[in-house]
Amino acid sequence: MGLKPAELWGRFGWQGGSCFRCEQTGVPVAEIGEITVAGRTFPLSACQRCVFRLEQLHHTMSERAVRRQNAPSPVPTQPRPIGQWPTSAPLDRPPAHVA
Ligand SMILES: [Zn+2]
Repeated sequence: MGLKPAELWGRFGWQGGSCFRCEQTGVPVAEIGEITVAGRTFPLSACQRCVFRLEQLHHTMSERAVRRQNAPSPVPTQPRPIGQWPTSAPLDRPPAHVA
């Protein structure tokens, strides 16, 4: 399924504003949802680039959800008791340095 940008843009109402995601200001943005902070609800507006990106993410997530539904449910495993490393290899080296 391919969605042309023009079709995607047509689904939203665009107006000048700032993007909640990339923080650009003075760009065409569309309300894509809302967020509630401390009992107050604010609209979330995103620019075209971010709307496109979020739309891609949404598509990927729904694909993944379908795949998960079709996959056999994993057998629940018991967590290992704490105090036991999940590897039997001797820990004779310090942890790798993370730059
Ligand atoms: Zn943006």
